[in-house]
Amino acid sequence: MPVYKNIGEYLEFINISNEKFTLFEWKPARSFKRYDLDLNIVKQNPVNDIFFHLTKGNMKIVHIRRDNLIYTVGSRNEVQFQLLEALLDHVSFKFHDIYDVEVILSYGNFSINIFNAFKNEIEDIIVQFADLGLLKRINVECRVCNKVLTLFVKKNFIENAESYPVPIVYVHEGHAILCFIDQNFDIRGVELVNITG
Ligand SMILES: [Zn+2]
Repeated sequence: MPVYKNIGEYLEFINISNEKFTLFEWKPARSFKRYDLDLNIVKQNPVNDIFFHLTKGNMKIVHIRRDNLIYTVGSRNEVQFQLLEALLDHVSFKFHDIYDVEVILSYGNFSINIFNAFKNEIEDIIVQFADLGLLKRINVECRVCNKVLTLFVKKNFIENAESYPVPIVYVHEGHAILCFIDQNFDIRGVELVNITG
């Protein structure tokens, strides 16, 4: 089964924190790991509303700071970063929709158990992920691999773009291509690009 239809199998954790502590954490039943160290890296980034990507061992980590909260997801390497971004977009939307976090945190006697029920929301999101309409699958030809690759892009990334075509870099197998995508999600060009970092 393709990754995006079965994303739960690839996820290691989903964490929602503020500056001081974890408000909510989801882990698959199979996982006993702790991710405190990863979250300290995440908290060092003060910028709002920008997705950050990390690779750590054989795990991908994506995080974003939004509404004074830090949303983080970790997954196995096979998952494209755009899928993880789409997942966090949806998780942050739902969490913000259900909980008025600022008000809850202002209660003197508040307990993070209040967020426990969000586990059910996460399970629902994971199961329905492929049907939420968050992503587009685009086929792109890489002349280095000499293969047609499947590239996932977030719909809102294309729909909210300021101009077209929208560039996206697809790093894979040790090289990268720059793809230009128009408002109809069609590929308008592909270039080989050099990478540094
Ligand atoms: Zn390639």
